Amino acid sequence: MDVKAIRELFPILNQEVNGHPLVYLDSAATSQKPLPVIEALDEYYRQYNSNVHRGVHTLGTKATDGYEGAREKVRKFINASSTEEIIFTRGTTTSINTVAVSYGRANVHEGDEIVITYMEHHSNIIPWQQLAKQTGATLKYIPLQEDGTISLDDVRNTVTPKTKIVSMMHVSNVLGTINPIKEVTKIAHENGAIMVVDGAQSTPHMKVDVQDLDCDFYTFSGHKMCAPTGIGILYGKKHLLEQMEPVEFGGEMIDFVGLYESTWKELPWKFEGGTPIIAGAIGLGAAIDFLEEIGLEAIKEHEHRLAAYALEKMSTIDGITIYGPKEADKRAGLVTFNIADVHPHDVATVLDTEGIAVRAGHHCAQPLMKWLNVSATARASFYLYNSEEDIDKLVEALIKTKEYFSDVF
Ligand code: PLP
Repeated sequence: MDVKAIRELFPILNQEVNGHPLVYLDSAATSQKPLPVIEALDEYYRQYNSNVHRGVHTLGTKATDGYEGAREKVRKFINASSTEEIIFTRGTTTSINTVAVSYGRANVHEGDEIVITYMEHHSNIIPWQQLAKQTGATLKYIPLQEDGTISLDDVRNTVTPKTKIVSMMHVSNVLGTINPIKEVTKIAHENGAIMVVDGAQSTPHMKVDVQDLDCDFYTFSGHKMCAPTGIGILYGKKHLLEQMEPVEFGGEMIDFVGLYESTWKELPWKFEGGTPIIAGAIGLGAAIDFLEEIGLEAIKEHEHRLAAYALEKMSTIDGITIYGPKEADKRAGLVTFNIADVHPHDVATVLDTEGIAVRAGHHCAQPLMKWLNVSATARASFYLYNSEEDIDKLVEALIKTKEYFSDVF
């Protein structure tokens, strides 16, 4: 992969921050956007901005073609069997909430179980807490192993015939762990439960095949994979989506409206009430074209190399604790860490003065922070535009940070 050429397609990276060339290591929070995506948005707004599905005029037809064309690109990207299974949402959070509200309230009852893990993002915890409260179901957690992975034995011990829903992240935004979704799905199905996957941190970085995984729902966000904010995907198996009621009612999603009764459009539109996120979908389509041209396999390999390099270099820093699996092949392209006696917010602040953007905090994973026995951590996350040089700058700045704090205190 030619990282130098790729970087040139990301205009935002070509700037100085606090007098230093920007080193952007916060792609797990949101990725930067390449020129083809920026240009697709610019073209839509300059040349064919129009509402979809309704008008018979030329701009409306072009906008509809762009919007529905993006749906087909998403279908192919995750290998769904039909575009009826691809619903545009605002992002992972909205997608998971849609499943919890629509599928959950109809199918989960008192005494049933919902199973998640300790490593989940708040977006994959709270919708299930709410569902459990509303239905009288029990929320259960699959424990984590010492190295921040889950064991299939623990999955088998937690999922029972009472379990109706298993929901799990594909890749952890804190530990970097890659979870064995295919195997967990099998265990969920053997117990009569459905499998929901939070793919927010997987789809940007690796090839996902929903038919091969056999999961029932797969959710992700465009903004972490080079697309704009405000667009995301809910994939669901057609036979499940068909049984489910919409969660938002209004324009665009109806077939017929009477005074007291209405009927819905067919899939996928019954879940897309109101004017949809047209520019966002078109931007997501452009992002998928961009990522596929480079190749998901090449992106994965590149990030794997960066993670291995970062683990090796960062572990030489005195007093550093790195969380998650120690072996690079068990994890994705991010490193979460703490430096002894320095608060992670201070680490991030000092790094910012060097032009290096990392994230500090609980990363929307407070139960996981509790499990790690910390209140916060710092996280450096990599994407296709990062290089070994970025990691060298990070390590150098971390050593400086450590020296600065040991001199001051
Ligand atoms: N799940 C994981 C693992 C995430 O990392 C994130 C975002 O950071 C989300 C869910 C929520 O995504 P969004 O805020 O785009 O809905």
